[in-house]
Amino acid sequence: MESLYEIFKRKGYSRRDFLKFSLAVSAFLGLPPSLYPKVAQALEKKEKPVVIWLEFQDCAGCSESFIRSTTLLPTEVLLDYISLEYHETLMAPSGFYAEEAREEAIKKYKGKYVLVVEGSPTPADGGVYCTVGGKSSVDILRETAEHAAFVIAVGSCASWGGIPKASPNPTGAVPVYEIVKDKPVVNVPGCPPIGDVMVATIVHFLALGKLPPLDELGRPKQFYGETIHDRCYRRAFYNSGQFAESFDDEKARKGYCLYKLGCKGPITRNACASMRWNGGLSFPIQSGHPCFGCSEPDFWDRGFIYNPLSVMEGYSGISDTLKGVGIGAAVGIGIGVLNKLINKKKEEK
Ligand code: SF4
Ligand code: SF4
Repeated sequence: MESLYEIFKRKGYSRRDFLKFSLAVSAFLGLPPSLYPKVAQALEKKEKPVVIWLEFQDCAGCSESFIRSTTLLPTEVLLDYISLEYHETLMAPSGFYAEEAREEAIKKYKGKYVLVVEGSPTPADGGVYCTVGGKSSVDILRETAEHAAFVIAVGSCASWGGIPKASPNPTGAVPVYEIVKDKPVVNVPGCPPIGDVMVATIVHFLALGKLPPLDELGRPKQFYGETIHDRCYRRAFYNSGQFAESFDDEKARKGYCLYKLGCKGPITRNACASMRWNGGLSFPIQSGHPCFGCSEPDFWDRGFIYNPLSVMEGYSGISDTLKGVGIGAAVGIGIGVLNKLINKKKEEK
């Protein structure tokens, strides 16, 4: 099987391009510069990673995001680089032949393949709500996870249950980690997650032979260590109490903070504000829409998308963090009012 460097060469990219990619991977993964030669060496020699990609209760949006990951790897290299042995949406075979391909890949790459799961499995009522080829999602997940090197739950559906698990959860959807308990499950949440984050998680394992450092919810710290609010370019407006009141007011046009329009950036851990989307082009807040916290557990049940966090105080699941954020915004508003008064006084003098 070809290594990544061989694929780069075959596609007409230079060694310089390859080294630039290796450097980008090291930076993406937050590795110290001293590890850069090790990463380049590993990517030059190691065979491409084998991936089995399962889809359960999903919309295939995570797959769409994955194949549009262009910052790290050009699309034509990505699809050649990762050996996708089974992916219902992207593979040519269907029906019986597709299921045979999955079983063969499990046997052939026992203990070596990465299992990616998109969508939530459904154990309720014997698993009847999601079946593929006559088998329940739970059975397919268990038999494929058994021989995987590790499991990545991509998207909020697989990581937390997502929209299928939203109340009243008619299919009994659960997160992948509730079914796979005997091996590491890396959660890469988001609806969908940033494509480059999914690729980087696989590349980290390939380059260093281990999983990236994870937080208490199993998310790679490098990408989920900070909130959107921590890195938001509108933060100065928040701190000075300058908020858009509606989507089409003067303050919205001036790019003020979207907190009062329901922004969940203060409680949402993700890399959208630093990495952005579509090759670093933009992210929801930059397009004028508040973050609605799609990468947080149970985001759909946490209150209406356009309600500001402080309005949610009657919600039974409210945490101290939420209250703190509400207080923070109130302090921000207070400081803003104070600044305006001080400026007005100066003008009067
Ligand atoms: S996490 Fe969102 S984008 Fe991904 S499968 Fe679920 S609903 Fe679709
Ligand atoms: S509340 Fe939202 S828009 Fe305002 S600074 Fe925080 S993340 Fe940015």
